[in-house]
Amino acid sequence: MTAPAVAGRIDTHCPYCGLQCAMTLTPAGAAGVTVTARQFPTNRGGLCQKGWTSAELLRHPDRLTTPLVRAGGRLRPASWDDALDRVADGFRAAQAAGGRDAVGIFGGGGLTNEKAYMLGKFARVALGTSNIDYNGRFCMSSAAAAGIRAFGLDRGLPFPVSDLTSAKAILLVGGNVAETMPPLVGHLTAAADAGGLIVADPRRTATADRALAGGGLHLQLAPGTDLPLALGMVHLAVTEGHLDREYIEARTSGFDDAWLAAAQWWPERTERVTGVPVAALRRAVEILSRSRRADTGAYVLTARGAEQHATGTDTVSAWIALALALGLPGRRGSGYGPVTGQGNGQGGREHGQKADQLPGYRKITDPVAREHVAHVWGIDPADLPGPGRSAYELLDALGRGDGPRALMVHGANLAVSAPRAGHVVDRLLSLDLLVVCDFLLSETAAMADVVLPVLQWAEEEGTMTSLEGRVLRRRRATTPPDGARGELEVLRDLAVRLGQPEHRFPVEPRVVFDELRAASAGGVADYAGVTYDRLDAGETLHWPCPDVDHPGTPRLFLDRFGTDDGRARFTVVEHRGPAEEPDADFPLVATTGRVLAHYQSGAQTRRVGELTTAAGPMFVQLHSDTAVRAGVCDGDDAVVVGRRGRVSVAVRCDDSMRLDTVFLPFHFAGDARANLLTNPALDPTSRMPEFKVCAVRIEPARAV
Ligand code: SF4
Repeated sequence: MTAPAVAGRIDTHCPYCGLQCAMTLTPAGAAGVTVTARQFPTNRGGLCQKGWTSAELLRHPDRLTTPLVRAGGRLRPASWDDALDRVADGFRAAQAAGGRDAVGIFGGGGLTNEKAYMLGKFARVALGTSNIDYNGRFCMSSAAAAGIRAFGLDRGLPFPVSDLTSAKAILLVGGNVAETMPPLVGHLTAAADAGGLIVADPRRTATADRALAGGGLHLQLAPGTDLPLALGMVHLAVTEGHLDREYIEARTSGFDDAWLAAAQWWPERTERVTGVPVAALRRAVEILSRSRRADTGAYVLTARGAEQHATGTDTVSAWIALALALGLPGRRGSGYGPVTGQGNGQGGREHGQKADQLPGYRKITDPVAREHVAHVWGIDPADLPGPGRSAYELLDALGRGDGPRALMVHGANLAVSAPRAGHVVDRLLSLDLLVVCDFLLSETAAMADVVLPVLQWAEEEGTMTSLEGRVLRRRRATTPPDGARGELEVLRDLAVRLGQPEHRFPVEPRVVFDELRAASAGGVADYAGVTYDRLDAGETLHWPCPDVDHPGTPRLFLDRFGTDDGRARFTVVEHRGPAEEPDADFPLVATTGRVLAHYQSGAQTRRVGELTTAAGPMFVQLHSDTAVRAGVCDGDDAVVVGRRGRVSVAVRCDDSMRLDTVFLPFHFAGDARANLLTNPALDPTSRMPEFKVCAVRIEPARAV
């Protein structure tokens, strides 16, 4: 199948991660389009192999172009009218039996701002359900919660990525950007070459290698000990004269109480618990402090390794405490920020597809916010549902008790990406109706009762918000294949079938964006001044941008933080450890993560031959001594066994691994799903599951 190109060269952005690298798509006849990298502040003319091969899916033989409806146990082609009728009838039946919350909506951090916004509106207006959440709950929610707690708002990086470029000291916690977003590494080069790149990660990743090559540090902590590592560094900042007392006095609150918690993490205790030598801890704090004081830049960045814990919010708060102790946030040339992963992980959490939020990053429980958004939507605020279940809690409730009987999924592949994936699949199978909107038959779509074939990246218009809070235009570069429809159109058609007036659900992305601007106006994430015309004219617009004459806000917090008193807040946190510890049956700690050639659940990248070849099959990475103890050798087939499941793997020995730790990428399907093992223990604040720690053992494949 070919995707005919529209005329001319089209400037757009990569469909995958939050760096949103700039690219140009050029018509290439039967080949659809070709990709060339484009100069842009974030990628500076670079792309990773995922970006270079991204056009392959536009003309992929697996592309869905016909709705599918399950009949006689099989998915069979159907007309759009029949498929949409089946969905609307199923939603009505579920709600007649179980009330408005009997239908759930599950969104994604890769959806455009327009789709994320309209999905939230569809759930709350057309369905009246409180049960909407999205897969960003699985990857950024702890950083978001900690950012709001400390700074009063969360915008990913509160400064442009390019601010990192000249910094001589950068601490990156739990992020392997050399594989997840390689062009970002270019922004770390000055720090790395100065010996100032510090990577905290249980694995010696490619990013840790880059740090060590330049004379920097790899803090190889035990999985689940991120929080004490951070507090131990706060302790050293205080006891060894690195505390920025003037900054703390002028710009923060709560330091004295936070210090009482950090005081318990003296260096030797920190080393004993985390496994990181005192000398490395001491040097890391010195590097950051000296560079900040010399005005050569110092940053603390956190990523999934810090967040994906049952204590993820407190863990990120501990890293923020280190940044505050050193006087970094809100200072030009230094700072703290979380590195967003998904393509629209930032915008995806701002426009109302979170269970507890309305557009503009407003709290759904705030009466003023409800009044404002209800007015924009033309409904009575009393008709707006309240907060619903968080992502895993929503999935866990499917088909039982007062949980949803029907679920519609957009932009997520839950059978692979959800924690405790075997249980989640059971819950999905228990539904009366599972609807999946996708452009490929993902593992989740293959289980559905109705599959609706939608448009992808280069076939649609819209906006994305990158990891630095910059709003970007996504542009159509090819004519969509016959049979596929945009999700805005799908939502409109379903809303009309559910009795809504057609005009309430526009399908033109520009019109939807203008409505989003109105809904966000006055909110935390204020897009009111961002317009398609300004973006198309090449303006650089970071939110908040409250009016059309406003230049946008590339750097937040330079004068005051977003809290009521303008001060950043220290939070008292304590180490509770992982929810699941190793024992005699499961003596190893498994931690999950990403590899260079795959993105998220792999539903897209596993269909690109070059990427599949580069990544190879599912594997477990472990120390050769650990392998010997388990009775396996490098290259063997093996099984990783945990309390919730078993995963088939190939053994990859790597003697840089800790003896107590094994690593599993989570991009693979079937019995190679790492998430068959992961623990859905939830952070009490963010409701993020603990993807980064679970107890396992390794068995030779023959023992299965
Ligand atoms: Fe850039 Fe991320 Fe796309 Fe790679 S996957 S090209 S790093 S946006």
